[in-house]
Amino acid sequence: MRKKSKKIFYKTKEEIELIRHSCTLVGKTHAAVVDFIRPGVKTSKLDEVAETFIRDNDAVPGFKGLYDFPFTLCISINEEVVHGMPSNYELKEGDVVSIDCGVLSNGYYGDSAYTYCVGEVREDVKKLLEVTKESLYKGIEQAVIGKRVGDISFAIQQYTERKCGYGVVRELVGHGVGRQLHEAPEVPNFGKRGRGPKLLEGLVIAIEPMINMGKKDVIRSTDGWTISTADGKPSAHFEHTVAVSKNQADILSTFKYIEAAIKNNIELSEIT
Ligand code: MG
Ligand code: MG
Repeated sequence: MRKKSKKIFYKTKEEIELIRHSCTLVGKTHAAVVDFIRPGVKTSKLDEVAETFIRDNDAVPGFKGLYDFPFTLCISINEEVVHGMPSNYELKEGDVVSIDCGVLSNGYYGDSAYTYCVGEVREDVKKLLEVTKESLYKGIEQAVIGKRVGDISFAIQQYTERKCGYGVVRELVGHGVGRQLHEAPEVPNFGKRGRGPKLLEGLVIAIEPMINMGKKDVIRSTDGWTISTADGKPSAHFEHTVAVSKNQADILSTFKYIEAAIKNNIELSEIT
């Protein structure tokens, strides 16, 4: 994300419900795309499906036009970490595809990302995806009132880097979500416990571990957008928008539509 004002905007309950609405639509948009995640499909097709779905639901693609990004989805394949551009690239068996989607509805953003497998994927890559998703929930466990941003950061880094030996991307971080897609505070995926801004009632943040199978270092492509691993090894990205709450974070985005669609596709492929 880009440098933004440091002021944190705490949300009312009503605003949190509006963000939940946008986030739910993000989850359903992901699910609408799932059916197209198969070998031979161009990533530009996924973008088209997502944009149509969002507009059919009376909302606006959150990324399109923001910082001049020209698409609805960021689609990052294999060694691409984030901010990949939809293109004529055709998905192939064994690819992993990170899809990041944002929606703007009623003046509030929702933001969520998921990394998908195209057909059968190598076991070590599957493990990277599982660990990255698990690390997201380790971070979310810390998103309670009274803790600090550093507690989230530490939990993610501890699980992925120290325990599993993966690389945590430093250059890109999670962020506040609200009337702007990227608000303060920054939510890094690495850091120290007990440091950083305090988590207070009304804080809504996107937690989004970007985890590399190899080293943490990344490079930016000449397209000005796509971030890839420097060592060419795969990367994974999972993201939820959450509201900090008293005993347990309120997860405003959802993977339930995505995971139902994936399960449905697997069952269909087993029948036919
Ligand atoms: Mg995102
Ligand atoms: Mg985000």
